[in-house]
Amino acid sequence: MSGSRKRREEDRSDSAAGPPGSPPSGDLKAENEALKKEITALKERLAERERCEASLKECDEKYRILFQSLDDGIVINDSGGVITEWNPAMEGIFGITKEQAVGHTIPEISSLCTPCDTRSRGEEDWVRSVIDRMDRQVSSQPRFPFVEIPIMRPDGTFRIIEARNFSFKVRGDTFDGRIVRDITGRKKAEELSRENKEELNNLIESSGDAILLTDEEGRITKFNKAQERLTGLTADQVLGLPAWEFQASRSSPKGPGLDPLTWYKEIWDRLLHDENDQFYRQIVEDEIQSTSGVVHHVQVRAFRIPTRKGFRIGAIVRDITELKRTEVALLESEEKYRTLIEMSPDAIVIHDGGIILYANPATAHLFHASHPENIIGRDAFTIIHPDSQAISKTVAEKDKEGISTLPTEIQVIRKDGTIMTVEGRGRRIQYQGKPAVEVILRDVTERKKSEQQLREYAAHLKRSNEDLELFAYIATHDLQEPIRGIVAYSQLLLAECRPDHSSETKKYLENISRDGLRLNTLVSDLREYLRVRSGGRPFAPTDMEKILQDTLHTLHREVTERRATITHDPLPIVQADCSQMIQVLQNLLANAMKFQQKGIAPTVHVSASSLDGMWQFSVRDNGVGIPKGYFEKIFILFERLYPRDTYPGTGLGLALCKRIVERHGGRMWVESEEGRGSTFYFTLPVNPPESSV
Ligand code: ADP
Repeated sequence: MSGSRKRREEDRSDSAAGPPGSPPSGDLKAENEALKKEITALKERLAERERCEASLKECDEKYRILFQSLDDGIVINDSGGVITEWNPAMEGIFGITKEQAVGHTIPEISSLCTPCDTRSRGEEDWVRSVIDRMDRQVSSQPRFPFVEIPIMRPDGTFRIIEARNFSFKVRGDTFDGRIVRDITGRKKAEELSRENKEELNNLIESSGDAILLTDEEGRITKFNKAQERLTGLTADQVLGLPAWEFQASRSSPKGPGLDPLTWYKEIWDRLLHDENDQFYRQIVEDEIQSTSGVVHHVQVRAFRIPTRKGFRIGAIVRDITELKRTEVALLESEEKYRTLIEMSPDAIVIHDGGIILYANPATAHLFHASHPENIIGRDAFTIIHPDSQAISKTVAEKDKEGISTLPTEIQVIRKDGTIMTVEGRGRRIQYQGKPAVEVILRDVTERKKSEQQLREYAAHLKRSNEDLELFAYIATHDLQEPIRGIVAYSQLLLAECRPDHSSETKKYLENISRDGLRLNTLVSDLREYLRVRSGGRPFAPTDMEKILQDTLHTLHREVTERRATITHDPLPIVQADCSQMIQVLQNLLANAMKFQQKGIAPTVHVSASSLDGMWQFSVRDNGVGIPKGYFEKIFILFERLYPRDTYPGTGLGLALCKRIVERHGGRMWVESEEGRGSTFYFTLPVNPPESSV
């Protein structure tokens, strides 16, 4: 039997006996009245109780709904630590069902959620430490704050929760509870926001552009490294400063005028307070002077960051000093290039597959057009002579591919039908964003004509030179015979001269004989000179040291008599006509000793060095030297500086040497100072030209 039914039956038996203090049973009416009253009171009590029960039920229902539908997890345990309540939110947070939790203790359930990194310490330790932390908070704070706890759910997913203890009493029994909140998402968002902030900061700091940020009052809150580099100021020096003050302090002398502070303040006022102001949308150019006095040309772009209090302002400043410089240089170079092209006497044309895209005035002239514009779009190949079509197309193809080509001669047909020779060279370029070929054409018709004339003239000259040499050779040969006759007969006549002959006759005959002999020497010198080419031998490896030794051997008497000292450096082996080399060294050494200074023994040094594919020989002496004006003259045949009785000789030696050296493809010259000696130089090619061999 239930408790409530038993109570009702007791109530009924109580009322039959009459309530304590009721009128005696004899007075039925009164008794009845009393009974009625009691019944009414009883009914009221009953109704009250039912109302209470209904209210309690309603309360219980509300609590249930709340308990079931709360986003926060709620767990309640009895004084023995056994879980009695576990709401659906707890199931969602921990991944543990109500059935799994109710009836178990908190430490038992907590041990299912130990995070990996704490497992090594033992699940029990971890659970105990968490409970301790929560208990400490309970005892230390009147309103318990949430304790943050990382957990690993049984399904292996990681969560961060925060929990708060509470406790309450029901009919003398104490119950403990915990409100648990899953803050994994919030934590992630916080971390993301922190990361974003860091990223943004790194981005601003590492930006090549100078960046500045202000608060809603225009005070500088951010000043990145690029700003420091640009201005020479450190962030510490400017943080908190009104931006216009900073800007005014760094304005260039050519900047906004006499009062930069007012100027910049106005701009910043508009930026910060005038919603309709569009300044921040523009890119403006300005100048900034760094602390070291360097003026930087900059491009500034401001932006607004709307906040509850107004706008924060950001400014990105790009240093375009180099860009400006390059721009100016580019304009100058473009100007130079354009004038050069327009003034060029050569035709300069840009084409794509022969179609003319650009032509300079000289090209128009070449095409007999009144203006370069008139030939744009025309096919350049239409004016090329059929004989030059193939080569022109091949070269144009190579140019287009970027293969380097050599200057090519082609023939083009003029408007009047005459043919002109042009030399052209092309290169691939970018024109109006597309690859094209730029060609320079030079009218070489006249040059070709002159070259041809020159070639004919040279051939003619060579022929007449050869004829002349042959003539001179024959003439000298034929002259020798009569000269010898003159000398012989004059000497015969002298021998037959009787003592009574006048001394005049004798003197005349002696003169004839002496001049005849001299004429003979001159003629044989001339023959020797001519024989340098006609009688020369082929070149062969010639050891110049050996040649020098042979020469010294020949000049032995001369060297001894003059007490000359002749030294030399190592001398090379050259490709040469050996006997002609002996002639060269012999003449130079003989002269070096012959033209000695009075009372000073000759000192001669021979050396050689290699220079740009040539051997350069030198013969240096300490003789009388040569006056400057005669450096060229002395190499002319029979040219001499002194009378024969001062220094004997015919003036053949140096002319002969020069002719020999030139036959070998070299050249000869002298450097000298009067009274201080002379140095004769001659060169010989390391590899002599085939023709001279
Ligand atoms: P030659 O020796 O027969 O006079 P060269 O042709 O050898 O003829 O020399 C021409 C002239 O050059 C000489 O007469 C002399 O005046 C000058 N000369 C040549 N070699 C030397 C030298 N080593 N020092 C000074 N003068 C020189």
